Amino acid sequence: MDTALQILQRYWRFSDFREAQKPILEAVLSDTDLLALLPTGGGKSVTFQVPALVKPGMTLVITPLVALMENQTAQLQTLGISAACLHSQQAPEQRRKTLTGIPQGRWKLLYLSPESLLSPPAWERLQQTIINRIVLDEAHCLTSWGSSFRPDYHRIGAVRRSLGNPPLCAFTATATPRTQQALVDLLGLQTPKILRNSPYRANLYLQVRKIWYPQQRLKEIQQFLTQRTLETGLIYLRTRNGTEKLAAHLRTLGFNTAAYHAGMAAEQRRETENRWLDGKLKFLCSTNAFGMGIDKPNVRWVIHGNTPLDLAEYVQEIGRAGRDGQPSKVLLLASEPTGWLDPTDRDLHRHFRQQYLEQRKKARQQLAQLPKTGTYRLEDALSLAILHEQGQLQWKTPFDYLLNTQSFQASAVELNTMEGYLGCRGCRWQFIISAFGWPKQSVCGHCDYCCPKAAF
Ligand SMILES: [Zn+2]
Repeated sequence: MDTALQILQRYWRFSDFREAQKPILEAVLSDTDLLALLPTGGGKSVTFQVPALVKPGMTLVITPLVALMENQTAQLQTLGISAACLHSQQAPEQRRKTLTGIPQGRWKLLYLSPESLLSPPAWERLQQTIINRIVLDEAHCLTSWGSSFRPDYHRIGAVRRSLGNPPLCAFTATATPRTQQALVDLLGLQTPKILRNSPYRANLYLQVRKIWYPQQRLKEIQQFLTQRTLETGLIYLRTRNGTEKLAAHLRTLGFNTAAYHAGMAAEQRRETENRWLDGKLKFLCSTNAFGMGIDKPNVRWVIHGNTPLDLAEYVQEIGRAGRDGQPSKVLLLASEPTGWLDPTDRDLHRHFRQQYLEQRKKARQQLAQLPKTGTYRLEDALSLAILHEQGQLQWKTPFDYLLNTQSFQASAVELNTMEGYLGCRGCRWQFIISAFGWPKQSVCGHCDYCCPKAAF
């Protein structure tokens, strides 16, 4: 700890670590495996950047976020720390320089995506150096479903074993106890320390409003926005098409907004994100592709125009409001439960559930055809990840698997928790808190059940 403090003072010029950083830092320095459930921001990166300099060798930081890799690498370089990143949007020259530096032991920290990590040029060089720790950011990519699901995350446990078994620290935002266990199992964490924070946020006012006819959704959104033209916010929708239609409609009404989804080019996504971060756009109409790694303090509201599929995803998305601690509003517009009058949510859920079941059906069919031991192929990536998630496949190395047709675990993805939240007949915060395995809070006063008068 003393060495860590000296490094912090020497490079970062801070006198001490923040209180919230200390337990994480202690766990990281003790070289045990770690699963830390933390929201974005709050100085998380220092807790693995400082320990990277304490030991000989290089720390690998695996993250799906290109912007984050670049920002953090640049920041470290400014502090005089030797860091580099590796991702698919880099110029070949830059990539070559990073790769050459690996066997030379030039980098103390290397940021990369799981796809870059497992690409032959990087993998070959990583064998020729000492890795002192693997940090896995956004670990929920392993268990979440849809656009943030990254099949290559499923091979990280085997990556660690093949790189001399360094300690593995996984970071993610909120996760239910069941998801925590799934992360421990899927990553093969060895007697990990688990650090977690309650999802409760005293400054977020939660409200659910039922939608009885499709036009009502637009009206509610419009009315909400008209009262808050100066506030920053986010509107989440399920589909790409939905975000574009809503953004176009709201622009015709004079609102300054844009769509954001994973179907847009990387450059355009980054530009849109920056315009929102700079305050040039007050809000975005986005799919769940937006928000990982985003740390904007003054987001005053988050609306969900459609019901999300998963409570953990929902809690993560609403957690982007009110990071500065100021009161913020969280509104969920949910189709009436029968789906007769407003079928929007019912149809979307059917569509996504169908897609989910089909992916699993395909994985099951492949299970019958795949050899009992085999080698990774890109075209099988999704099925192999699903089989791993279900406990039917083991990665012996990051490239070789062994099928295990006997065992079957229930999937880590939780599809039904959201229904409980919508139908809950009590305090909404209590529901979330107990769903995440925390003891009940005695006071709420800021949800539509506890304080209907404060509704917006
Ligand atoms: Zn309440």
